[in-house]
Amino acid sequence: MNLLETLAGKGLRCELPTRDEALAVLATSDDELLDVVAAAGRVRRAWFGRRVKLNYLVNLKSGLCPEDCSYCSQRLGSKAEILTYTWLKPDAAADAAVAGVAAGAKRVCLVASGRGPTDGDVERVAGTIAAIRERGADVEICACLGFLRDGQGERLREAGAHAYNHNLNTSESKYGDICTTHGFDDRADTVRRSRDAGLSACSGLIAGMGESDEDLVDVAFALRELDVESVPVNFLIPFEGTPLGERWALTPQRCLRILAMVRFVCPDVEVRLAGGREIHLRTLQPLALHIVNAIFLGDYLTSEGQPGKADLDMIADAGFEVEAPDVPTLPPHRREPGAAPQAPAEPQPVPAAPAASVALRRRGAGTDLPPNT
Ligand code: SF4
Repeated sequence: MNLLETLAGKGLRCELPTRDEALAVLATSDDELLDVVAAAGRVRRAWFGRRVKLNYLVNLKSGLCPEDCSYCSQRLGSKAEILTYTWLKPDAAADAAVAGVAAGAKRVCLVASGRGPTDGDVERVAGTIAAIRERGADVEICACLGFLRDGQGERLREAGAHAYNHNLNTSESKYGDICTTHGFDDRADTVRRSRDAGLSACSGLIAGMGESDEDLVDVAFALRELDVESVPVNFLIPFEGTPLGERWALTPQRCLRILAMVRFVCPDVEVRLAGGREIHLRTLQPLALHIVNAIFLGDYLTSEGQPGKADLDMIADAGFEVEAPDVPTLPPHRREPGAAPQAPAEPQPVPAAPAASVALRRRGAGTDLPPNT
């Protein structure tokens, strides 16, 4: 049996590939690219059909972070030209979240820069969640606030958060090259804390920071070991004014191989195409939809994505459909403790989400920037 058949078979049984198999995906040639996408696509369709879940970012607090993550425009000493502001008021944040929901987002990610929240910050986010619920928005809420301390994950869960995001970003051995103010273990600890608090753990990676294939496989395996339920895959956006501001190391083909490797390692969880897709995948973005089952809609934290309408058109043109609010994202065995993975022979069609209006505000909701339509 060849490599790709083996990997697709393992993905359909939720078996972990070997490290060598995962590395071999990253080493495939451009001539094999469509075969790689097709094999990963079999796994994707088995567990997620042709659904695409839309996620929407709300940047609650932007810039001025004391940490020194070298990829980040919000880092200590960053000279990147980004909006900086302290906490958005709950009403302004809720308005931004509701605009994302109106555009079809099924999950809203409430993000704040910084090392981690104080208990007062957690209460402020709880107030924002309440303001979103008061507006009647039926949406999953994910918080992304940095390192969690005792009781904070539980408080967010109690306030109505569904998930917590904290990315591992890269391998343990590479971590010291991209950040000196905290370590890989600190990040893994917060992922565990969020899971232990009953939140759905969301954690992913950034590719294109000068890592090796081994680093990429290591971080994918670490995410599988942490049993995260969603994996955002970012491609480095090289912000001028940051240490990685001139690093352009990715091709569209490499991005697709990385996504496929992650899909084979984490076959039955949400693999989300995240920051940098527009600038690195470029015209190959629709091919990535055959591998991932989720994207961010519209803009990122400190940079613009493509217009929301272009995202929705791309999904429709590629033959996919926006996941409706009442359709569970994860397959049954991940929602029912003790259930065995069983991929359906033929994925059943699912009703698409109703047509949405797509007027989205740019990052920095609550500012005077015009809508991203
Ligand atoms: S990634 Fe987070 S912790 Fe690191 S510099 Fe950026 S905002 Fe701060």
